[in-house]
Amino acid sequence: MSTEFPKATIVGYPRIGRRRELKKAVEAYWAGRITAAELEATARELRTTTYGRLSALGLDAGNYSIPASFSLYDQVLDTAVTFGAVSDRFKDLYDAEGSLGLDAYFTLARGDKERQPLEMTKWFDTNYHYLVPEIGPDTALSLANDWILRDVAEAAEAGYSVRPTLIGPVTFLLLSKAADEAPAGFNPLTRLEDILPLYVELLGKLADAGVKWVQLEEPSLVADQAIDEAEVAAAVERSYAVLATETSKRPAILVTTQYGSLGSLLPVLAGTEIDALHIDAFKGSVPTASELAKLGNTTLVAGVVDGHNIWKADLGVAAQKLTELEATVGSLAVSTSTSLQHVPHDVEDEQQLDAQLRSWLAFAEQKVVEVVTLSKLIGNPGAIDAEITSAAEVLSSRAGAAGVNRKEVRDRAAALSSSDFSRGDYNARLAAQDEALGLPALPTTTIGSFPQTAEVRSARARANKGDLTAEQYEQLMKDEIKRVIDLQEDLGFDVLVHGEPERNDMVQYFAENLDGFDVTVHGWVQSYGSRCTRPSILWGDVSRPAPITVPWAQFAQSLTEKPVKGMLTGPVTILAWSFVRDDLPLGETANQVALALRDEVSDLEAAGIKVIQVDEPALRELLPLRKADQPEYLVWSVDSFKLSTASAAPSTQIHTHLCYSEFGAIIDAIDGLDADVTSIEAARSRMEVVHDLESHGFKRGVGPGVYDIHSPRVPGQDEVSELLEKAVQHVPARQLWVNPDCGLKTRGYAETEESLRNLVNATVAVRAQL
Ligand code: GLN
Ligand code: ZN
Repeated sequence: MSTEFPKATIVGYPRIGRRRELKKAVEAYWAGRITAAELEATARELRTTTYGRLSALGLDAGNYSIPASFSLYDQVLDTAVTFGAVSDRFKDLYDAEGSLGLDAYFTLARGDKERQPLEMTKWFDTNYHYLVPEIGPDTALSLANDWILRDVAEAAEAGYSVRPTLIGPVTFLLLSKAADEAPAGFNPLTRLEDILPLYVELLGKLADAGVKWVQLEEPSLVADQAIDEAEVAAAVERSYAVLATETSKRPAILVTTQYGSLGSLLPVLAGTEIDALHIDAFKGSVPTASELAKLGNTTLVAGVVDGHNIWKADLGVAAQKLTELEATVGSLAVSTSTSLQHVPHDVEDEQQLDAQLRSWLAFAEQKVVEVVTLSKLIGNPGAIDAEITSAAEVLSSRAGAAGVNRKEVRDRAAALSSSDFSRGDYNARLAAQDEALGLPALPTTTIGSFPQTAEVRSARARANKGDLTAEQYEQLMKDEIKRVIDLQEDLGFDVLVHGEPERNDMVQYFAENLDGFDVTVHGWVQSYGSRCTRPSILWGDVSRPAPITVPWAQFAQSLTEKPVKGMLTGPVTILAWSFVRDDLPLGETANQVALALRDEVSDLEAAGIKVIQVDEPALRELLPLRKADQPEYLVWSVDSFKLSTASAAPSTQIHTHLCYSEFGAIIDAIDGLDADVTSIEAARSRMEVVHDLESHGFKRGVGPGVYDIHSPRVPGQDEVSELLEKAVQHVPARQLWVNPDCGLKTRGYAETEESLRNLVNATVAVRAQL
């Protein structure tokens, strides 16, 4: 292939729309408010607007510099429908022509009356979630959807030569799971020989359509896998031998490897006949000449601009990396390290932010400009000296700004000693808590939030707009708290919660109340499907100017004799769901957040709160992709949790909540949190977690969820009893708590009340048998 790769590109661009137009359109389509044609029209408009914007920012509209990275829901699902990779339970979704169309696509994503959707899981070390394809030994693969061809034709018509993107074969199969019909131990990677011919066929069709470059994404190659690395290397070699060497009619192939370093797979990929190789040279290391030796004519696309965070680039550092690489490789191009889908669209949309803070930021549009700027350097040393100087000025303004480096915060962290991280003997605490709380066996509780009703949301919106006075808003929240407390009393819960009505989001709420953070207005990023989050910006040293949750908890406690559980978000989760500063090690930032929470814990105790939950649902999310990096992470993350809770008196019961059930791999770390009670997800996996707890010998209190709150379905009393009886067989009843899987925020009151009633009744029945 002789087509030259453009000097500047990006891996991908946000798809949800500047004002979440895609979210609104797909949700309107699901609700039957707009037709398929209207949804398509919005999607087309978004795609072409994006191409126009990217070309205005300097990407070459005529030369495949712009990726066609749009997706209606998820890029992995797109690849799954392209190759008909759907398991038996979805087989009926094919239409008469053997295609998977729009409604099939959304049924896979969202399920229907009869079936669960595809499972959703975390995309590498981001807060994006993809849909997990299900593949069995006999899944009939075929080209079942041609949106990728439609998209290039549509773009060409609008005057753009765009680069279609697909998940590459190795990553696609590594991300897939065995279908229900597969025999035990089936590994989807064994279907490689069946899927490669379909990639070949599709490459031929793209070539026929005049496409000169295609992007195959292989991020799984930067993460350690459950299978042997030699097996992965063999799959890579085989795949790109077939796609690049043996396929004559094809576009030039760019393989992308975002989210980290390729390690020993770099020479393997470099040794194939692909035409361009993208590496993550921001988070990953800059490869040496010997690692790149086999590259030959392949263009190296260096991802030197961070696609995953929001700070302006240090152009000097990026330029240095490019200069090093230029000396080594024959052909070099510049890119972002990852898709820009993880950052908001445009800093210019955030005029309410402090001008100085705004001057430090680069969202998707600003990052495209950085890439284009850096690309001018190739072949022209010195070409961007002025830009490098002004980038350095931005960095020094940041380093010296008020709030970025605060002596009192740094001194407090520096003075910590190991005793600040330790609560002392668990058994002594247990005795003190038994005495202080006097709870029955199998105590019942919930995870924190109660349904966020339309009234609660509207009260918050009106208060933000200034349509409600602070007193009016406070009264509405108190009314809601009273309703939640009364309901729990009526249902017979043992440890109550206030219901979190005052929180828009469990992280943003704290960000708004701590120093060192700011929040955006339009900074939405896709979390999954049509769901978006608006991460806060953690830019400075963190401290707590005043108590945050105390008045609400105190009010709730005043309404009942039962203990009310205080509710905080843990340091790791606050970091994971914010854009974090890049000028301080994460572990140090985590300790600053932990110290702020520690003050809150003390104030809650002083206000008479005897049980405090510190949620860490994102503990596993930040786990590094390489096993070798994991121990260090687990040390600082666990330490920050302990720092936030260790000042609590022995008689204060500390709870934590984790949002997932597959925690076998990090159970030591979870044990290390030293929480008195840990609630986890378990209902969907039918209480399988109790086996991990049993084999680990978990000694502290634990509440494996008995009610799957992710669907409106009401679990029957018998169903809950069965789960509890199973739990009691594997975990001593003394340790067990009874609770739902997660918070009830997204549920309605009708189903919540019924489900919780069944939960309490089932507990009473099982208690009687103990
Ligand atoms: N306390 C939070 C809630 O109940 C926990 C949410 C979560 O785990 N994501 O909403
Ligand atoms: Zn949860």
